[in-house]
Amino acid sequence: MTQTPTTKTATADLAQLSALNLPALQGLMEAWMQPKFRAKQIYEWCNKGVLNPTLMKNIPELLRDRLASSLMCEPLRLIRRECSADGTRKYVFALNRPRLAGKMVEAVFIPEEKRGTVCISSQVGCVLDCPFCHTGTQGFEGNLSAGEIVAQILAIKADLRDEPMTDELHNSVTHIVYMGMGEPLANEEGVHGSLAILMDEDGLNLSRRRITVSTSGLTPQIERLGAVYPVNLAISLHSAIDEKRDVLVPINRKHPLQQLRDCLNAYPLATQRHITLEYVLLDGANDQADDLAALARFVNPEREWVNLIQFNPYPGSPYRGTAKENMNQFAQGLISKGIRATVRRSRGQDIMAACGQLKADTKEVS
Ligand code: SAH
Ligand code: SF4
Repeated sequence: MTQTPTTKTATADLAQLSALNLPALQGLMEAWMQPKFRAKQIYEWCNKGVLNPTLMKNIPELLRDRLASSLMCEPLRLIRRECSADGTRKYVFALNRPRLAGKMVEAVFIPEEKRGTVCISSQVGCVLDCPFCHTGTQGFEGNLSAGEIVAQILAIKADLRDEPMTDELHNSVTHIVYMGMGEPLANEEGVHGSLAILMDEDGLNLSRRRITVSTSGLTPQIERLGAVYPVNLAISLHSAIDEKRDVLVPINRKHPLQQLRDCLNAYPLATQRHITLEYVLLDGANDQADDLAALARFVNPEREWVNLIQFNPYPGSPYRGTAKENMNQFAQGLISKGIRATVRRSRGQDIMAACGQLKADTKEVS
């Protein structure tokens, strides 16, 4: 594992864009001899969480450049980067915005032969408290803004430009997954706002087919997502038996399996795309014959694939993962019933960058 220290830009003496209120911005525009309405436009971007002036589309380029060079605009600061033996890179960022200043979030870059995936965080912590998840044990501290979500990707792209990967691994960011810290659909404002930026032709211009939102199953929010940004969907299923899912994914008590079933049937899929049902195999808890039978009954094989995930342990975790050969057997059991099932190879485990292991230190940095 290698670590690099923070690379903070020398802008600390300048005002922070996110901290300027409307009258202060109006004063600034006046001093720069700009029309007053520009202050309102900039302020609206900031409120949407877009703190990077280059993304403020309705602002003239010269003014954008001036904002970028005169004010501190970074929504995030890179605190630490760790590189796994398998090429995975974990990034720890501190937030700059006043209310969450110093709180940390994590993002991961996963290079493969033909694609480079960035896994991003949408919240500091998570309110939902799934007992096998490290993030869930952290408690909830706040929602990320759209700008803070997008900034994770921009920072990683910049890092890859500065230090590209060697050998056959993919060097650039081609896919985005909302599978880092937090429940994306419990932060619709930030996540929808970030999707708008990612999919914007004048922004990162990523197609809906390259973006995946993972959710524990907030059904009204899934419906709304499908209506506005019908990206790929991954569902943290983990059991197809209500009594068990009530424990493993507690939001099931509010949105039980039948409700989830109806909601998934209605989700608008892109052509040749499927919904991924994520299933972490936990020894004795959800990997028995009745679990397999219930899962096989739940899946709609025409539209859904099952992704069996190896449990990633973390200090103090109350579960044990299913043995590898039993995982393969479980997969075979699904396949024999005509269900597409894959076993997810765990990446970046040596740097705690694997699924469910993300949990930034809650202590703050200054
Ligand atoms: N909150 C969202 C997205 C973040 S979690 C969700 O729950 O879908 C991303 C994925 O990691 C989810 O499928 C989650 O169930 C899984 N996960 C959580 N803890 C894990 C662990 N300890 N080992 C393996 N996967 C885990
Ligand atoms: Fe939150 Fe997802 Fe972890 Fe559950 S699995 S606690 S929803 S981050």
